[in-house]
Amino acid sequence: MVNVKEYLQNIKEKTHHNYGHQVEFLQAIDEFLETIYPFLEVNPIYVEKNILEMVLLPERLIEFRVPWMNDSNEWKVNTGYRVQYNSAMGPYKGGLRFHPSVNQSIIKFLGFEQIFKNALTSLPIGGGKGGSDFDPKGKSDGEIMRFCQSFMQELQKHIGADTDVPAGDIGVGGREIGYLFGEFKRLNGYQAGVLTGKPLAYWGSLARTEATGYGLVYFVQHLLADSKDSFKGKKVMVSGSGNVAIYAIQKAQSLGALVYGCSDSSGYVIDTDGIDVNLLKKIKEVKRERISVYANQRPNAVFYKNENIWNHEMEYDIALPCATQNEIYELQAQKLIDNGIKIVAEGANMPTTLPATELLRKEGIVYCPGKASNAGGVAVSALEMAQNSQRQPWSFDHVDAELDKIMKNIYENCRDTAMEYAEPMNLMAGANIAGFERVAAAMLSQGLV
Ligand code: NDP
Repeated sequence: MVNVKEYLQNIKEKTHHNYGHQVEFLQAIDEFLETIYPFLEVNPIYVEKNILEMVLLPERLIEFRVPWMNDSNEWKVNTGYRVQYNSAMGPYKGGLRFHPSVNQSIIKFLGFEQIFKNALTSLPIGGGKGGSDFDPKGKSDGEIMRFCQSFMQELQKHIGADTDVPAGDIGVGGREIGYLFGEFKRLNGYQAGVLTGKPLAYWGSLARTEATGYGLVYFVQHLLADSKDSFKGKKVMVSGSGNVAIYAIQKAQSLGALVYGCSDSSGYVIDTDGIDVNLLKKIKEVKRERISVYANQRPNAVFYKNENIWNHEMEYDIALPCATQNEIYELQAQKLIDNGIKIVAEGANMPTTLPATELLRKEGIVYCPGKASNAGGVAVSALEMAQNSQRQPWSFDHVDAELDKIMKNIYENCRDTAMEYAEPMNLMAGANIAGFERVAAAMLSQGLV
């Protein structure tokens, strides 16, 4: 009879010993191990068969050289990655991130989270992630295109509609997916289902652009509905001003919320008249300008240079971190508590550190972990794969309605699993256990593979 606590402790020590330098990866593992105990205690088979230790290791990690030429004809090189983490539930699925901070640790933490996120959608997708330390900021279209082509020359050896289907993430939007798709097509012929987040012109899905932000708001809407509440009149703050942030703001506003602030890596803006989302889209999606430009164009908006939006003092109800990992440490969590917020729902992946989530939960704030609340993007990516296989596009309303259904299901699954194994509204435990339960059962039934 295995002692589950000892088993977990041994795994934790071994992982820290082997990957001590991979800080973000260890953070994601620790957060997961923290919550899984009660499930293993009543399902010892996963300990006896050592499924937990297996799930922590990627099936495959590919690292490659990406040479490219800039506009001054200088030779440059970056590192590319793809982690094919777990295929128990289906083809590897997860985005590509282009950002200077990308390294093995970041790609592995994202890939690990993706396994359980994808399982929570109840769609047939395994977990993967990829990207590069290439920085698209300030690059010309030609430079972006040449980089994407070089990146795909290697990546294409490892992906396919039924094996591994990448999508976008930070720094990878429709433009980058288009260049990546074009290069894949040149090398392999036209295969619609090999990438998702494609432009509509060649089999992208309606509502994919909106999906992560909308899905996040649907998740919170179902949470609020449990206590007969809604977004109407709620004061909301959002970090980031990229794909996830913009559509979270748009959907929250359409449900009657007042969104006062958003940010980018240069600082944040507070607009007491409410964020003008159309102006924000023009600045960010069309002109690709900095967030300070927004404040210059609105009478009552103020720009706070190089400041973290979660340090802002102001009373509000809901915080939606939608920028990047580790935005909210204990200091910021305490600020949120002092500001009187009731809910933190993550649009980004792992924006809140483990001690910060513990502090929030101790104070009775509902914390919605990204692997559940931001699953709308990958869910609609899986719906894009379904449309590509059927050679049949679905209407915006149909995809949007499916997204809402999926987010409701994820919320209820996390809530009910938390109730069964942990404590009421410990949605982090609910998400980890519900996701692991599906993946572990599939792994067990597939044998040692
Ligand atoms: P975008 O590239 O569209 O936007 C990212 C936003 O976050 C930008 O405003 C960016 O500012 C800001 N940001 C990035 N890094 C930092 C930093 N170090 N400090 C402060 N701000 C920063 O990415 P997405 O909106 O697609 O992704 C945002 C988050 O959501 C990520 O964590 C991603 O993994 C997660 N996510 C995305 C999904 C999707 O479908 N796109 C799906 C699920 C999760 P700046 O432009 O100045 O860098």
